[in-house]
Amino acid sequence: MSTNTTKPFSYESFPPSGLVAYFSMEIAINPGMPTYSGGLGVLAGDTLRSAADLGVPLIAFTLLHRKGYFRQHLDEAGQQTEEVQAWNPADFCTEEPARITVSVEDRTVTVRAWRYDLEGRSGHIVPIYLLDTDLDGNSGWDRGLTDHLYGGDTNYRLQQEIVLGMGGLRMANALGRHVNVYHMNEGHAALLTLALLESQLGGGPLGAATDSDLQVVRNKCVFTTHTPVPAGHDRFSTEQAYRILGGERTARLQKFGAFHEGLLNMTMLALRFCRYANGVAMQHGKVSREMFPEFPIDAITNGVHAPTWLSDPVQHMLDAHIPAWRRDNLFLRNAIDIPVGEVLAAHARAKDALLAEVAARTGLMLNPRVLTLGFARRVATYKRANLLFTDPERLVRIAEQAGGLQILYAGKAHPQDEPGKALIREVVERAHSTGSDLLKVVYLENYAWDLGAALTAGVDVWVNTPRRPYEASGTSGMKAALNGVPSLSILDGWWIEGCIEGVTGWAIEDGADDAAEAHNLYNKLESAVVPLYLQAPEKWGQMMRTTLAFNGSYFNTNRMVKQYTRNAYYPIKLVEHARVEEAAYADQV
Ligand SMILES: *Cc1c(COP(=O)(O)O)cnc(C)c1O
Repeated sequence: MSTNTTKPFSYESFPPSGLVAYFSMEIAINPGMPTYSGGLGVLAGDTLRSAADLGVPLIAFTLLHRKGYFRQHLDEAGQQTEEVQAWNPADFCTEEPARITVSVEDRTVTVRAWRYDLEGRSGHIVPIYLLDTDLDGNSGWDRGLTDHLYGGDTNYRLQQEIVLGMGGLRMANALGRHVNVYHMNEGHAALLTLALLESQLGGGPLGAATDSDLQVVRNKCVFTTHTPVPAGHDRFSTEQAYRILGGERTARLQKFGAFHEGLLNMTMLALRFCRYANGVAMQHGKVSREMFPEFPIDAITNGVHAPTWLSDPVQHMLDAHIPAWRRDNLFLRNAIDIPVGEVLAAHARAKDALLAEVAARTGLMLNPRVLTLGFARRVATYKRANLLFTDPERLVRIAEQAGGLQILYAGKAHPQDEPGKALIREVVERAHSTGSDLLKVVYLENYAWDLGAALTAGVDVWVNTPRRPYEASGTSGMKAALNGVPSLSILDGWWIEGCIEGVTGWAIEDGADDAAEAHNLYNKLESAVVPLYLQAPEKWGQMMRTTLAFNGSYFNTNRMVKQYTRNAYYPIKLVEHARVEEAAYADQV
């Protein structure tokens, strides 16, 4: 090992010689591959799509998830049941001949990889390697390690994380890829730092690692944390760590400070072994620094991949007026000059397409002239899907004021999340009991990529009601904004940055409790949203246009990947400087 690698980290030359290796437990790669559960996977996929468009030298690792994330069924009462979505990797991917092994408990598990070539708009390819343990020679249990995304218990999860983090690093080496930056998208892949340290030691004992060895690992690693919800951070008991990872590794992880409150904490491990860490919105950076005050945590606000989430009619409109948007999303700012009539016409077509999809799925014909709200996301209790129904009578009065109101819901609860499932039943029950000729509420089954795109492009207003400060970012409102659809949301996550009152949407003011915030939500509907909609088309169209121009041009992964490239992967400034600037800004917001 050389000592000259311990100097403060800074890249002077760009482009660099090696690759970024991006690690994520879930990636929404292709609509036909059920390899993601929600926002984290969609963000990972959008990141890779933009990296491919921008020609960033990057490769990615994830697990195969051969049995997929589940397909959701809802009965009349909103009772969720889950169906396995097995898929055939050979339909989408090419098997790599390389084989590597990892040790799990006292077993040696062989791992292979399936390669998916993600092609950018100019032909640059980002290869995604999906790790797979379903091989002859592995035990029946081990063959299933890469079957289920977020399935099983914490034993299963820790074993999967060995395959992802340690197996991913070994696979990169076996494939002969020269990597100089490792990006851990969330803590699930944090064990790759341990594998990096072991390879730095050339097979020698972990106990022999010097500070300079640790610094070598740190200089290669970048980490993004994604949630302010404590349960969202992976944690494992000491007993599990000893049993699954082995005694020496666990003892060393304890020495390195990867344990927090008596548990092996993957966020802590990642933070200890990265030279750069970030949260996913300005506010989330601040919340993360409060959670982990020892660490300088920067912020890079999330985005979405514009061509993936823009409806066809809006894409055609943009191509006609500002074709440069495809090369550089900043040009979307110039949507401010598109005639309002065209913006409204493009949206009307996206709304028709959505309502046709709703009719195909449910048999229900909704009215394209009626104000339509959308609320779709992974069902977690902090997102408060039921907030709109706090006062059903008032909601009905709002529907009368608006000359009708339609609300489209969608979202899956994790199979083990009973409170989440109860929330779906509650919303479905409310939909039946408060629905009338004027108020139509529909809960759509199996929220996934295609439905997400149709909803965010086709509704009139995107609603989000998280309990502060638990929304790290949220990205569905960004998809809506790109399509010119304003948001009505709690000021948390990205919306703190994205909300210009009356210009890109509306804030739901903070209240002392759920009831107070529901009251503020109704107030905003009555006093701002409905009156403006009734003045449609001109005023409403202007709002759609400013939403697209101001927020579409910023909350996209084209901008975000450029920030990762220059602030995280290959920084030109020292990380500390960026942190000071960001902290000064965060204090202003
Ligand atoms: C965009 C998207 C998400 C994430 O949206 P949030 O606003 O972060 O909840 C989740 N699931 C699907 C299917 C999506 O398309």
